[in-house]
Amino acid sequence: MQGNMMQRQMTLTDVMRHARTNYPNQEIVSVTADNPAHRYTYKESFTRAAQLASALEKLGANAGDRIASLAWNDYRHFELYYASSCSGMICHTINPRLFPEQIAFIINHAEDKIIFTDSMFVPLLEALSDKIKVEAFVVMTNKENMPESKLANVHCYEDLIASGDENFSWPELNENDAAALCYTSGTTGNPKGVLYSHRAMVIHSYASLLPDVFDLSATDVVMPIVPMFHVNAWSIPYGAAAVGAKIVFPGPKMADGETLSKLINEEKVTISAGVPTVWLALLTYLRQTGINIPSLQRVVSGGSACPWSIMEELEQKHDVYLHQAWGMTEMTPLGTYNARVSTNLPPEKQKALRLKQGKPSFGVELRIVDEKGNELPRDGVAFGALQVRGYWIIERYFKQTESALTADGWFDTGDVATLDPDGYMTITDRTKDVIKSGGEWISSIELENQAVALDGVAEAAVIGVLHPKWDERPLLIIVKDGSKELEPNEILASFEGKVAKWWIPNDCVFVEEIPHTATGKISKKDLREQFQNHQWTQEIEK
Ligand code: AMP
Repeated sequence: MQGNMMQRQMTLTDVMRHARTNYPNQEIVSVTADNPAHRYTYKESFTRAAQLASALEKLGANAGDRIASLAWNDYRHFELYYASSCSGMICHTINPRLFPEQIAFIINHAEDKIIFTDSMFVPLLEALSDKIKVEAFVVMTNKENMPESKLANVHCYEDLIASGDENFSWPELNENDAAALCYTSGTTGNPKGVLYSHRAMVIHSYASLLPDVFDLSATDVVMPIVPMFHVNAWSIPYGAAAVGAKIVFPGPKMADGETLSKLINEEKVTISAGVPTVWLALLTYLRQTGINIPSLQRVVSGGSACPWSIMEELEQKHDVYLHQAWGMTEMTPLGTYNARVSTNLPPEKQKALRLKQGKPSFGVELRIVDEKGNELPRDGVAFGALQVRGYWIIERYFKQTESALTADGWFDTGDVATLDPDGYMTITDRTKDVIKSGGEWISSIELENQAVALDGVAEAAVIGVLHPKWDERPLLIIVKDGSKELEPNEILASFEGKVAKWWIPNDCVFVEEIPHTATGKISKKDLREQFQNHQWTQEIEK
């Protein structure tokens, strides 16, 4: 027998309508390339989104069309999110940090109809123009700041808005309609598209708002530093609207400590979200200037493992609690969240718990399996391939017919993890980065966490390099921060007693810079290439 509740479709249009009706005067503040301090209200924002949706229709865009963006976090990008998704089109955010050939591949694969771009990416698009097939371009600025351009069929964003009808009638959508598209960064092979439905995004937004997750409310001021081109800024633009929180968008100034601290203090930001390098940039600036950020209460850190030194400094010097979160493009992206741990626990226990990636949010289940697919125990020790299933997890990649799931319906994340009896998950590696020494696995992330905690270390990476006896052995690669002389042997000795003896890297080398991927993660693939002929200088006894 079926339940007899109303079958109302869950769509982002409802999120927009809710915010416009109930929080019309809540503010959205942005830094943009053409205005360092733009501010307006939700009501104005959604009125302009209606104008934009109507203008998009006049440009010939229809339901299901991919409307792409190459843009930073600001109010125009926010308007485009809602204008495209809520009119039945698909908001396709593109990461401008990808290689140009990857961007061209993505645009063609997605068959983008119109590309919205910040002025600074116009030259990039011009360089790609004979490789891509797009009907129109829209530069996200006003008339005064429109750049000269060789692109065909270019429009000015503010002119489009002015031409649109603010009484645009939003269509009734089905919750299973696609709302947004994002490509994985594709460190191996071509990037793959992940198409999000309205339903997945609405349920995901609910989950992200829970008290043990972002815990957002109308009294919060939220600054998403995580780019809007990276898994919809972890869905903050929807979650904030659902609860009526004030939003602060940092525009192109995402890793600029000065702009970030100024925005935090002037707009009284209470919560922010970004990758660990953002927190590092902010802390470095605060240390250099002695500036404090009293309004900020908590930050969410994800994308890669967060070193303890960052959590410690944020909390001890600024009373800011850093929550670690884990997720991925294929998961909309939320997987796990590390909620506040009890202060009644001994400090060492608190630290150990906080370094974990957290517990799954309700709506996501986790399991770890061995190479044959057998489930491994949740004992906090066994590591295996991390698989997930849930309400907002991918089933197949965009335009692919075959399922992305295992025969029994789980998605293999490509991460290696432990699960403990209390539900905490700890990422120990990516499957392709795991170091296999003498048939056993060594966690590169654990070793990196230890290394970046040392004085004088700015960044550390550990990779497996071929070894005649052990198959592979860990090589530690360090960027110094210049504050201290460092000796490779001293660094290696510092691991003793902290990790199993056979985990200790055989060698430590210093480099000026560690390569990063377009989403800011350490590029182990590049490092492995760079150090493939490394000559070992030390031996270990296993
Ligand atoms: P992306 O799809 O670009 O968001 O990348 C997802 C991947 O980033 C995950 O599969 C993990 O390998 C990594 N990742 C995300 N969050 C964390 C975290 N808190 N700790 C360690 N790795 C993470």
